[in-house]
Amino acid sequence: MFEQNEIKAQDPALYECLQAEARRQEEGVELIASENFVSKAVMEALGSTLTNKYAEGLPGKRYYGGCQVVDVAEDLARERARQLYGCDWVNVQPHSGAQANAAVYLTFLKPGDTLLGLDLANGGHLTHGSPVNFSGILYHAEFYGVEQAGANAGRIDMDRVRERALALRPKLISIGASAYTRDFDYAAFRSIADEVGAHLWMDMAHTAGLIAAGLLNDPLPHCHVVTTTTHKTLRGPRGGMILIGKDYDNPLGQVAAKSGRTKLMSELLDAAVFPGIQGGPLMHCVAAKAVAFKEALEPSFKDYARQVIANAKAMAQAFLARGYELVSGGTDNHLMLIDLRNKDISGKKAERVLGEADITVNKNMVPFDDKSPMITSGIRIGTPAMTTRGLKEADFVELVRMIDDVIMHPDDADVIARVKGEIHEIAARFPLYA
Ligand SMILES: *Cc1c(COP(=O)(O)O)cnc(C)c1O
Repeated sequence: MFEQNEIKAQDPALYECLQAEARRQEEGVELIASENFVSKAVMEALGSTLTNKYAEGLPGKRYYGGCQVVDVAEDLARERARQLYGCDWVNVQPHSGAQANAAVYLTFLKPGDTLLGLDLANGGHLTHGSPVNFSGILYHAEFYGVEQAGANAGRIDMDRVRERALALRPKLISIGASAYTRDFDYAAFRSIADEVGAHLWMDMAHTAGLIAAGLLNDPLPHCHVVTTTTHKTLRGPRGGMILIGKDYDNPLGQVAAKSGRTKLMSELLDAAVFPGIQGGPLMHCVAAKAVAFKEALEPSFKDYARQVIANAKAMAQAFLARGYELVSGGTDNHLMLIDLRNKDISGKKAERVLGEADITVNKNMVPFDDKSPMITSGIRIGTPAMTTRGLKEADFVELVRMIDDVIMHPDDADVIARVKGEIHEIAARFPLYA
């Protein structure tokens, strides 16, 4: 646990809150697919003096004095990110994944332009055109989805994506998801994008760590631009990042007319982050990104990522063996989506009763769900966080047994109390910040 003596002395109410959250994380089992546990080193960078510094602009080109030290930190983050993904250009300043995506929209689209993305109800993300998000409010969002039945059930069918793209002629095609269990065929997406004259954008927020480890297909050779969060499988601080592979020096013609000269895609993305959508970057977060990227470059990170996938596959097998339905029938990555419609329980109730046993998951729509987003028919389960704590395949199979106990007896307080005890035992065997 971390010493927080200053907070304890001056703000007892908040101190109690921090202690309670540390306890909750230490004692429970975290299966939210988008969450992870950062190292103590990342945490130290987040609590550093860099939080005091304004640094609008980029290293060497700032709008404030006194940036000579934070320049070093940002250059370390940029260099390590380039090494991690073998890419040519990166911006590490977006405050979050959503901010990174906003910079992409500002660069590639004008309000009203058409975007084609994965439907939120089929595993997509809010920022890929949902009507309640700026992306769906400012732009004309159209969607592709997964197949409902047949051999490709739960998977994206590239022939359908092409049909949609040919019919809609979008300016931008997005790939990437928050609840999709299979890998993407980036080359097929690129050929569709080229055919209709669209830019291709991958949002690898969820899978960035697995891609860095070389365990999933690499989007960078195929996409014009790639965005990510840094806090999911990549296991860094909360934040975002934008990367470009071989297309980094592509000019973007439509903006050239306005600016009087042909600007590079990379220049436009930098300008979209600042001054386009953000003010000063969070330099303590940028420093923490540098720390996390160094960790991700270690051989041990590859072992971690491999274990994340092995654990997810073991869990998926165990759920199938217990009669659960998984969207797409299994997983290629770190998460699975359980369709609970044959178990007589909603996603909302499953999330609540599992929470009573200190197992944290989130309710999630399944494709072609007949329940509302507040109720849902599914839950999403991911292995990144508990893999960081050291759990292996057999431990995850045990967790499936416990989850099944709760879901099959959601109104039985004795069962929930027993499972909660088992959860505390397994958590105690794998200390978090001991
Ligand atoms: C999590 C996620 C985001 C948003 O990240 P925030 O940091 O929460 O803004 C964007 N896109 C996808 C696909 C995600 O899964």
